[in-house]
Amino acid sequence: MNLKKISILLIAFFILTQLWGQSTDTTMMKKIKHTEKEWTVKLSPQQFQVLRKCGTEPPFTGKYYHNTKNGKYFCAACGALLFTSETKYDSGSGWPSFYAPANNKNIVEVHDTSMGMDRIEIRCAHCGSHLGHLFPDGPRPTGSRYCVNSLALDFKEKPPEGKGKSER
Ligand SMILES: [Zn+2]
Repeated sequence: MNLKKISILLIAFFILTQLWGQSTDTTMMKKIKHTEKEWTVKLSPQQFQVLRKCGTEPPFTGKYYHNTKNGKYFCAACGALLFTSETKYDSGSGWPSFYAPANNKNIVEVHDTSMGMDRIEIRCAHCGSHLGHLFPDGPRPTGSRYCVNSLALDFKEKPPEGKGKSER
C-alpha cells in the first residue's frame, strides 16, 4: 500500500549509513561494511548467527576445535588474518582457543555484559564481526585465552614446503 514511502525511507537510510561509514573510517584501516541483507547472502545461516548476531556455536562441535594442522586462521566474514596455528592450544573448553592473536590490530575487544556475565567480547577489527570472547585464564606467555567460534574462522593450511619453521 505504502510501498513508495517505505522504499524512499529505505533509500534515505541506506545513503545515511553509507555517509556515516565513510566519515568515520577515513582515519582507520580500510573497513568492510555490508548491510544485514548482504551478510545473509555472503554467510551461511550458522555463520550469520555467530558473526553478525553474536551467537555461539555449541561446544565441541566446531570444525576447527581439533584442528592441529599448521596454517592461518582468517575472519570467515572478511578474510582478515586473525590467528595462526602457532598460538592455538587445547583449552578443553570446546572451542578453538589461542593464547595470542596474529596481529593485535585485527582484533577489537569490547566489554560484554550480556547473559548476566562480565566478559570481553572479541570482534574482527575490519568488519566488526563477532568472533568469541577473551578470558584471562590462558597459558603462558600471555595468560590470555582467545575463545573463538569455528564458524567465525576460515583456516588455510600452510603448504608443506621446506622443513624449517622460518615463518612467524
Ligand atoms: Zn572480519
